[in-house]
Amino acid sequence: HGDSKDYDREVTSVCPFCGVGCQLSFKIKDDKIKYVTGVDGPANENRLCVKGRFGFDYIDHPHRLTKPLIRREGAPKGLNVDPANPLTHFREASWDEALNFAAKGLADLRAEKGSYVAGFGSAKCSNEEAYLFQKLIRQGFGHNNVDHCTRLCHASSVSALLENVGSGAVTATFNEIENADVAIVIGCNPIENHPVAATYFKQFTKRGGKLIVCDPRGVGMGKFATHRLQFKPGADVSMLNAMMSVIVEEELYDQAYIDQFTENWEEMKAHLADYTPEKMEAICGIQAEELRAAARTFAAGKAGMIFWGMGVSQHIHGTDNSRCLISLALMTGNVGKPGAGLHPLRGQNNVQGASDAGLIPMFLPDYQSVTDDGVRSAFTSVWNSGDFSNQKGLTVVEIMHAIHDGDIRGMYILGENPAMSDPDVDHARAALAMLDHLVVQDIFLTETANYADVILPASAWAEKTGTVTNTNRQVQMGRPAVTPPGEAREDWWIEVELAKRLGLDWNYSHPSEVFAEMKRNMKSLDNITWARLEGEAVTYPSLSPEDPGQAIVFGDGFPRANKRARFTPAKIVEPDERPDADYPFVLITGRQLEHWHTGSMTRRATVLDAVEPEANCSMHPRTLRAMGIAPGDTIRLTTRRGSVQVMVRADRAVAEDNVFLPFAYVEAAANILTNAALDPFGKIPEFKYSAVRVEKAEAL
Ligand code: SF4
Repeated sequence: HGDSKDYDREVTSVCPFCGVGCQLSFKIKDDKIKYVTGVDGPANENRLCVKGRFGFDYIDHPHRLTKPLIRREGAPKGLNVDPANPLTHFREASWDEALNFAAKGLADLRAEKGSYVAGFGSAKCSNEEAYLFQKLIRQGFGHNNVDHCTRLCHASSVSALLENVGSGAVTATFNEIENADVAIVIGCNPIENHPVAATYFKQFTKRGGKLIVCDPRGVGMGKFATHRLQFKPGADVSMLNAMMSVIVEEELYDQAYIDQFTENWEEMKAHLADYTPEKMEAICGIQAEELRAAARTFAAGKAGMIFWGMGVSQHIHGTDNSRCLISLALMTGNVGKPGAGLHPLRGQNNVQGASDAGLIPMFLPDYQSVTDDGVRSAFTSVWNSGDFSNQKGLTVVEIMHAIHDGDIRGMYILGENPAMSDPDVDHARAALAMLDHLVVQDIFLTETANYADVILPASAWAEKTGTVTNTNRQVQMGRPAVTPPGEAREDWWIEVELAKRLGLDWNYSHPSEVFAEMKRNMKSLDNITWARLEGEAVTYPSLSPEDPGQAIVFGDGFPRANKRARFTPAKIVEPDERPDADYPFVLITGRQLEHWHTGSMTRRATVLDAVEPEANCSMHPRTLRAMGIAPGDTIRLTTRRGSVQVMVRADRAVAEDNVFLPFAYVEAAANILTNAALDPFGKIPEFKYSAVRVEKAEAL
């Protein structure tokens, strides 16, 4: 490609998949995207991965929803009701009829009891759309029962960062690794899940940077590592405490930094005395000498970064895992200087922005607490409306429990797919089926939309205007490349029309007006304007209208009362369930390079689906041989929640007593198996650890 004759026009925007936030150029002919090229954005410098480059034609898929739909009177709800004709149970409606119907069902429940209604917004929507969604629930229903998939992703990381550093976002961009000489990559698989970020990590090792890769799977990044620590699933705290105990014992810490910028060091030192590598090696599965060597390598670096993913966060001790990583960075003085920092690699393209915009039940925009009267009054003054609840709302999994308990009877779900993404998903599906009124806004008839009473057809990312914020805190402009199909409309427009029918005085005519309102109560957006974003990406915080933004923060102290970051000791907490004779393996779920989350987009993208068309799982070849199972056979995986059948591959990266199962495939939905036990702080489920039985099954 590259010959200007093969397209009519081009539009610069942002990739709709992962939190790296690569800028790209849509090449368009006859109002269709023909192909995509990389653009020199701050996060990607022209690079794209296979999803960004080839994952665009889902927007033209014949399954696109093009008209509002209302469920036929008495039609059954749920998956597999009529898989060959999934739309049979809906009838087409005008926008006016569908919006009136959607609003009336929610308003009727509000009239009974405002808290009967809850909302899930989306990390796939723009910042403006996320802001409007949380405003609609808070202003329209008077409570905070609003959440989104950050709860399933990095909620525990954010909880630990807010507690100990005072801010939930990264302290340095991932590109800052070019100034580091040591880095830890833990609980993530960037080559598959943040592929463009992974190219920077590989370049770092080519320049001689020392990389410590820690994961229960032998992830691809390990090939570039100085130290590979393939620890036992769920043993993060024992391994990290052991490494920190070495740094204390051998006095490898940065005393000057600790004295100037931290608190609670003496308690931390005392706590770590119990966690020597010799005591921890049997628990975490890494030999004491290896733990010592890795700790020395990290402590010896002049500047070090720590990257982590959902392998760290998705545990009932996810917050403890992140507390350890924060402590490790603090004791080595690795926050607030070039080449140093804490970086939870954010998953969705706009999960950072949606969280910043207040799409969470405990915080208004900019992580301002809903329990603070002054904060709520600052928002209701801008919104020109009365007060709303000072109680933290329910989180994703709690909302499903509340439906079963009869405490929530209606939902508005925009772009989320809990019928695939929630843990113990049969429980979540049963909850969705129990709702009196479910409004779903999406681009496809997702698994969740099969439970809807009314479906509002929305726009794909390439069809709309709005800003997004990537894992680096970089705010970037998304621009429409093509027009939405049929009667599909932009999400912000649908939200506004629904809000009006719920009696709210909303008069926005463009996302730029929403952005202007957001700025009134979001200091993080100081010096960032819509006009600026039309011309450039800006990293928050930006200190002046000319400042491109701060890639590194907290060089002069932390946003906590005493300006100091805190060491919070973490004790070992066992996973919620352990393998036994009935369920002898450990199940780990995750993503694959070609597919995105619940698969609704990438499984409808021609190239990606062709490369990876079939549900699959992976086990160690020795385990398969011992069980008389050949690669390509169908196996049955059973946990205490349910069973799925799936084709198995041999993969030496998977430990001999583990199974790895991607969660993108509805025909072998991983979350039928997963455990809904929650981390008590971040309320994130333990997706990364379930006890599972493996049996050979008949071919599918
Ligand atoms: Fe898109 Fe992420 Fe790939 Fe970049 S790395 S092209 S943002 S999926």
